[in-house]
Amino acid sequence: MNIIPIKLSVTTCYLIKPGDQYVLIDTGYAEDWGLFLTGLKEAGVGISQISHIILTHHHDDHCGLLHDILRENGSIRVVMSRLCKDLILVGKNDQTHGGGLLNRQVAFLIRRKQFYLSMILKKKVDKADNLKFKPYQARDCDILVDEEPRLCDIGIPLDGRIIKTPGHTVDSISILFDDGDCVIGDAAAHMLSFAGTKYCVIFICNMDEYYKSWEKVIAAGARRIFPAHGKPFSVEKLKSNIGKNKAANLVHN
Ligand SMILES: [Zn+2]
Repeated sequence: MNIIPIKLSVTTCYLIKPGDQYVLIDTGYAEDWGLFLTGLKEAGVGISQISHIILTHHHDDHCGLLHDILRENGSIRVVMSRLCKDLILVGKNDQTHGGGLLNRQVAFLIRRKQFYLSMILKKKVDKADNLKFKPYQARDCDILVDEEPRLCDIGIPLDGRIIKTPGHTVDSISILFDDGDCVIGDAAAHMLSFAGTKYCVIFICNMDEYYKSWEKVIAAGARRIFPAHGKPFSVEKLKSNIGKNKAANLVHN
């Protein structure tokens, strides 16, 4: 699969071209608008050429640009899980399902990083403020996914399907293509390895579910993993790192 990365401040979103139009998987922080436009221009793609946006989950660093993009092109259909629809309407990262930061070192680094990030993004240091975004009300033309449809069955002419990969959040989904490429959102990551992340994202809602999602991705035949944070990596990394982080080490707020 020809997957084009668009690298933003923290998030990497991905463009795929099924035909004349492009499918965008995830967006970035609302503050990433300028970076997004630059990335799109470098890829030679116009917003008018995007037909669908697939959201892997409702977090602010994935859905933050939705309003800006849809303002430019209102005909884009947003694809998301039905659980995402309810959470994205709330306008803040879900904390009602528990969860925490991966370990003490990550918690320490993230608290520091949040400070720097908030300066870069010109946001307040206040954590609660960092996790908010403009609520999104799903429109009639949007596509809400309950099960695990093939992409062609929801109007996207690509060989692959959506699979549910909860654990990071309850609404997390991934896109698994038949050739083994898997755009995984935050169901795995390639960041802060020195802090012991071991291919996990830094925030996990349910560690058991998280690793069950890895098992599912592996069993389904994934080969190359495209995370929203960090560079693509081989599925072998998931196989060799399953269970390396423990739920007991999550740092809760
Ligand atoms: Zn997330």
